Amino acid sequence: MARILITGGAGFIGANLTRRLLALGHAVTVLDNFYTGRRENLAGLHGVTLLEADARAPIEGAYDWVFSLACPASPPHYQRDPLFTLTTSLEGMRRVLELAHRCGARILHASTSEVYGDPLVHPQPESYWGHVNTLGIRSCYDEGKRAAETMALEYRQTFGIDVRLVRIFNTYGPHMDPKDGRVVSNFILQALRGEPITLYGDGGQTRSFQYVDDLVEGFMAYMTAAPETLDAFFTPRGCAIPVLNMGNPGEFTVRQLAEEVLGLLPESPSHIVFRPLPGDDPKRRKPDITWAKACLGWEPRVPLREGLARTIDYFRNHL
Ligand code: UDP
Repeated sequence: MARILITGGAGFIGANLTRRLLALGHAVTVLDNFYTGRRENLAGLHGVTLLEADARAPIEGAYDWVFSLACPASPPHYQRDPLFTLTTSLEGMRRVLELAHRCGARILHASTSEVYGDPLVHPQPESYWGHVNTLGIRSCYDEGKRAAETMALEYRQTFGIDVRLVRIFNTYGPHMDPKDGRVVSNFILQALRGEPITLYGDGGQTRSFQYVDDLVEGFMAYMTAAPETLDAFFTPRGCAIPVLNMGNPGEFTVRQLAEEVLGLLPESPSHIVFRPLPGDDPKRRKPDITWAKACLGWEPRVPLREGLARTIDYFRNHL
């Protein structure tokens, strides 16, 4: 049994990870200020210790593993208070690194495919430096996450902290916040409610959608990998810190996603309407997961249609 801290543990990914860790018999502490995390995501879970706190404050206690997930992550949420997003990303990273420095914990830090911005390389491998606007509406998130990666690198180099970075691509599934404005939850809820399906732009932009159980599997494989195994993989590749993409390489246009959702809900009267494309919206996104496959033997297993069907069931029961 490991002592585990999940910062941002009441959010979408945290809720799924917490359930998996409890099922494995671990002692789980969730730190969350409920800015975007939701109490109902932890409802009925026995054995979770809750620390209601801002991730930017010093963290007490001692842990074996820390999953560093605290940060608003959907565009409408992270754009609501950009300074909060930027400081949570960076200060939240520093606080878990300080904690690890004090107690020797291993950290898995949630970075994002947004570090690649609106990418000029397709698909995106970890070695790609990205194409990011420092002054746009996504910058508070993108640059906060990029700087957090740098902070993790420098703490690792200076203090030898065992910190591993995972760049998460679009992920969906049960426990998503119905109000977070992401494309998968929006489309499913709109179709279930018989409301118009809001396609931004012409719907030709692409994303790669990963079912959350696949991501949680990847987290477990990555967190439990021996430091020597990671060093043997990353050092020859010129990486001073482990960094892996996790996402499903299946690539779909947003319009195809809308059609998939409507296909799974043939009784829905909803139809597609077009809305303006938000600023800096990446045109294409697809992970290159060669490294995660080679290093951890991990790859996603749940096809889009099956994951969407499970997510529709969840929302149907939670509306
Ligand atoms: N999108 C859309 N309709 C919606 C919500 C999002 O067409 O109701 C588009 C959005 O413009 C983007 C893609 O779907 O191109 C994914 O958006 P999301 O907010 O889920 O995540 P992102 O990958 O942009 O951070």
